[in-house]
Amino acid sequence: MLHKDFEIAVNKLPEEQRKQKPDQDKLGFGQYYADHMFTMRWNRQDGWHDAQIEPYGNISLDPAAMVLHYGQAIFEGMKAYRSNDGRILLFRPLDNFARMNQSALRMCMPRFPEERVLQALKALIYLDQDWVPSEPGATLYIRPTMVAIEPHLGLRSAEEYLFYIINSPVGAYYSEGFSPTKIYVEDSYVRAVPGGVGFAKTAGNYAASLKAQVEAHNKGFTQVLWLDAVEHKYIEEVGTSNIFFVINDVLVTPPLGGSILPGITRDSVLKLAEEWEIPVEERRLTIGEVIQAAEDGSLQESFGTGTAAVISPVGELTYCEKTYTIAGGGIGPLSQRFYDAIQEIQFGAREDSQNWVVPVC
Ligand SMILES: *Cc1c(COP(=O)(O)O)cnc(C)c1O
Repeated sequence: MLHKDFEIAVNKLPEEQRKQKPDQDKLGFGQYYADHMFTMRWNRQDGWHDAQIEPYGNISLDPAAMVLHYGQAIFEGMKAYRSNDGRILLFRPLDNFARMNQSALRMCMPRFPEERVLQALKALIYLDQDWVPSEPGATLYIRPTMVAIEPHLGLRSAEEYLFYIINSPVGAYYSEGFSPTKIYVEDSYVRAVPGGVGFAKTAGNYAASLKAQVEAHNKGFTQVLWLDAVEHKYIEEVGTSNIFFVINDVLVTPPLGGSILPGITRDSVLKLAEEWEIPVEERRLTIGEVIQAAEDGSLQESFGTGTAAVISPVGELTYCEKTYTIAGGGIGPLSQRFYDAIQEIQFGAREDSQNWVVPVC
């Protein structure tokens, strides 16, 4: 049994204790939190239980809580969008929950009932609807999280877990227009290995990626481009985004093979490309092929995809001390087209031909 008695108790913060909303022009990313959160707990005996919407606040953990030692922690990143006519929309939320359950399986954590948690998320956002920004491009970032809370120091999978969802109003990613990124091709550190946990949104993957990110930042780059861990030549991802190239009018992206995070934005780009009859190749490609294409002029565009930015155009790629400019260091036509289409669907301003949008209310 995944759950028993999935009633959601609602414990509202009294009006007079609710926080003042931040200035919508200065939201940034992940600095403010809505008034309420959703929590539920799991143990072997009761399955998922104690589902609650409650005031946002600290959680108390035993210092021996297993997540703090052995890292059983998974999360998701998704958003709620306010449409021009005032509705609140989610984008493919059940895909995020399905992916989180895949992460859970890999990390020996319990799966959760996706439909029920979607109901809980809708109720949470409805209660905190004033926290969904209305400024163009601003959104409510949603962070579902699951951690092992059983106090125990022997290494094994934990038998008690906490699942929670917190929400954070965030500003438009490109408040000052697109800024193409400068990418450092990382040829020594790796993000994920075959047979490892690269496909899971699990905390350790991000801790492991920081060193390369810091070093690239110090050299003036925006992000790193990750190569495969075995031969250091196949393209994997860029920072915490999936990566696409347009070579000779063909959209090329590495296939999901276990070491790559299966991005929902990546999948949305692939589905739109199919709808628009743009030729697509999901195949392994080497950094050598990309550099060659940059040199002979057949590399037309490159962009990263992810929930935070939707599309982030790559302006420059630096590999073995040489820098290659892509799309004249600007934004290519396909990057712009995908960005506009996905963003408009998310905000309810374009026909949702793929049935991706789920209204909260
Ligand atoms: C979350 C994430 C992505 C993008 O996934 P989306 O579902 O498109 O937001 C890509 N790569 C990594 C490593 C990620 O963590």
